[in-house]
Amino acid sequence: MKKTALLALFVLLYLHSFCWGFFAHRKINYYAVFLLPPEMMALYKPSVNFLSEHAMDPDKRRYSLPEEGARHFIDLDHYGPAPYAGLPRRWDSALAKYGADTLRAYGIVPWYTLAVLQQLTNAFKEKNASRILLLSAAIGHYIADAHVPLHASSNHNGQLTGQQGIHAFWESRLPELLADKEWDFFIGRAQYIRNPAAFLWSRVAESAAAADTVLRLEKQLSRQYGADRRFGFEERNGTLVRQYTAGYSIAYNRLLKGMVERRMRQSIFVTASFWYTAWVNAGQPGLDSLSHRPFKPEELNALEQLDAQWKAAGKGKMDCY
Ligand SMILES: [Zn+2]
Repeated sequence: MKKTALLALFVLLYLHSFCWGFFAHRKINYYAVFLLPPEMMALYKPSVNFLSEHAMDPDKRRYSLPEEGARHFIDLDHYGPAPYAGLPRRWDSALAKYGADTLRAYGIVPWYTLAVLQQLTNAFKEKNASRILLLSAAIGHYIADAHVPLHASSNHNGQLTGQQGIHAFWESRLPELLADKEWDFFIGRAQYIRNPAAFLWSRVAESAAAADTVLRLEKQLSRQYGADRRFGFEERNGTLVRQYTAGYSIAYNRLLKGMVERRMRQSIFVTASFWYTAWVNAGQPGLDSLSHRPFKPEELNALEQLDAQWKAAGKGKMDCY
C-alpha cells in the first residue's frame, strides 16, 4: 500500500514538474544574448544570468495572477483548419468577433507577445533598465512557448489520444537529455523584423502544423515499445521520478528528425531578434550607462516575493504552459 502511494507521488511529480521548463527556457534566454550587436551587449551581457534565471517568471506568475495562464498558448485548431482564415490576427478585430472570454479560454500567446514587444520598445525609449531586463526575460518565455507545437493545439498533453505526458516529453525530457550533449546553439546574429505580427503568427501556425506530427510519431513509436521499455525511474535532484527512458527518448528524437532542437534554435533567434527590433524601433538608445545596478531594492523585493509565492502555492512544482 505504502509502495503504491509512493509510486503515485513519483508519477505526480513527474507529471507536474516539467515544461519547456526551467532548463530550455533558461537556455533560450541565455543563448539569445550572444546574437545581439555590441551596442546592446553593454546591457545584456552583464545581465545574462538574470535573463536566464528569470525566464520562468511568467510561469511563476500563473500562481498569483489568474489571467497569466492564457498568455502561454493558443489552441489554433479551435478556429477551424489551417490556415485559420476566420481568425483575425489583429487583437481588436479578434476581440470584436469572439469576445475576451473565448479568446482567453483558447489562449492568446501571439497577441500577448506582441503587446510585450510594444512595452519593451517603450522601456527602451525611457531607458528604463529594470523594465528592459524584466520584459526581455518575459518575452523570451512567451516566444519560446509560441514555438512549441503542443502550445498551439487543444490536445496539448495528448489527453485526447491517450498520450498524457507527451507535452513534457517533447519540451522538457528531450532537451534535458540531448541539448548539452548533442545540440548546437550557435546561431549567428539577431535580425531586424519588419513585421513582427506576421512573423510571429507564421511561427505559431508552424507550431500548430507540427502538433499532429508530434502526436502521431509518439503514438507510432509507443506501439513498438512496451510500457517497461518506455518508462523507467531516474533520480532527479535527489528524488526518484518516473521518466521516459533514454532509449525511448532517443528513438523519438530520431523520428522527429531534429524538430525539438530546430524549434529551440528558432526560439533563440526570434527572442534575440525581438529584443533587437524593440531597440531599433526605440531609436537605438545608448545602453552603456544602464548596466550599473539596474534594479531598485523594491524591484528586487517584488521578484523575491514572486518566487516565494510560487514556491508556497505550487510547492516548487511547475505545471505546463
Ligand atoms: Zn509558459
